[in-house]
Amino acid sequence: MQRFLLAIGLILGLLMIVGLCNTLNYGTPTRGSYDKVLVDLERQDIPQRLANAIKIRTISEQNIADINYESFLELHRFIDVEFPLVTKNLDKKVIGAYSLLYVWKGSDPTLKPVLLLSHMDVVPVVAGTEPLWEHGPFSGDIANGYIWGRGALDDKLGVFAILEAVEQLLLQGYEPKRSFYLAFGHDEERGGVDGAGQIAKYLKAKGIQALFVLDEGGFITNGGIFGLDKPIAMVNVSEKGYVSLELSVKGEGGHSSMPPAETAATVLSQAVVSVSENKFPLDTSVFETMMEPVAQEMPFYKKAVLANIGMLAPMISGLVEQQPQFNALVRTTTAPTMLLGSPKENVLPIYAKAIINHRILPGETVASTKEFVVKAIANEQVSVAIINQSNDPSPVSSVISKAYQAIEKTIQETVEQEILVVPGILPAATDSKYYAEISDDTYRFVFAEINMSENRFHGTNERIGVESYMAAVRFYVRLVENSDQL
Ligand SMILES: [Zn+2]
Repeated sequence: MQRFLLAIGLILGLLMIVGLCNTLNYGTPTRGSYDKVLVDLERQDIPQRLANAIKIRTISEQNIADINYESFLELHRFIDVEFPLVTKNLDKKVIGAYSLLYVWKGSDPTLKPVLLLSHMDVVPVVAGTEPLWEHGPFSGDIANGYIWGRGALDDKLGVFAILEAVEQLLLQGYEPKRSFYLAFGHDEERGGVDGAGQIAKYLKAKGIQALFVLDEGGFITNGGIFGLDKPIAMVNVSEKGYVSLELSVKGEGGHSSMPPAETAATVLSQAVVSVSENKFPLDTSVFETMMEPVAQEMPFYKKAVLANIGMLAPMISGLVEQQPQFNALVRTTTAPTMLLGSPKENVLPIYAKAIINHRILPGETVASTKEFVVKAIANEQVSVAIINQSNDPSPVSSVISKAYQAIEKTIQETVEQEILVVPGILPAATDSKYYAEISDDTYRFVFAEINMSENRFHGTNERIGVESYMAAVRFYVRLVENSDQL
């Protein structure tokens, strides 16, 4: 007994030492703050041009037949006219009929180019919610310090801030050393196959290898997350994979007055419960990298928890499931979304189907996700099939690369207050997933200052602050300049 207690004590002691060492070693050393740089923007009407672009209804409708493709051509013409120096000095290529690729040639062909991404399409407005908009979703109103409408955040903001920045630099007579590629997709909200998918293929065929790729998918919060007051810029270094699995069970059908002990509906229900209860394993590695800069700012006890999250996670697994945002960062998620049985209340189903949507953590794949689900169900009556478009998680890009540091520096230079730059993982998907072979370093961040208590991405009253938008233009000006210094 004494020996046993001694062994337990020894293990606990060792764990405490390991925990303490982890804590002391954890946290990114402060990289030093960068001086603020105020870029002079010479052109007038910068917010108004974004507002006018919002008025052009480039909507990715659910039904492909409902998409007004003419609106994309109208947006192309708008860009041609409103950005005369971009039109004159950059090579423009239309890809996939409606997507745009601009090349701004640098003076030194030995330097790798930088690829800046964004998308021109927007999501539809949910029918019936129009009256809830304080300013119409396609009004392009500028009021109360905001530019209002679909695309103000996602992601005409990116398209036009990039174009304004290049136009500004051309106005100054700036000649880049490395080339800059600007790629604007037209179907990101439908998965990006015909836009970004085609542009990436085109670049690959040309043998283009970019120094880095920057797409949307991270933003600036006004503080209030992780219990910190400082604003935080999320630069996402990876995005989760995506797959929808269809579970289907065949039944005998027939009248429901004399049902067999088991119907397609009951077998299917059991399968859905099994998949939901068999959680994918926890993996905190990306989360740990993500929290390093934040940990520096936290009191010791919180830092100790973060530093040892890998050790603690299995013990707090139940708690993790109660926190959907955290849960999504540390495991492949499972979301049963659609159920289908018999079409009538007194008819037994001939087949029953369920759709389960999974967001896959880096380290796993579409194939391993399906395998895990089949094992969890462990019933041959249930067939499992991948439906619709699926994709593996993206590789995790470096947080110590020169490119990441240039992005961090540019954010620090642009935001007036002190700001923390934090790498993260995006639970959703962006166009950048197509560019994995074009560059090892792909980052997801758009310069938009967001209030975390409001969810306006794809939501009602989407808007961007006028000042925030001006800062976004400055950000891209500095990003070009800083990337040229690498
Ligand atoms: Zn978007």
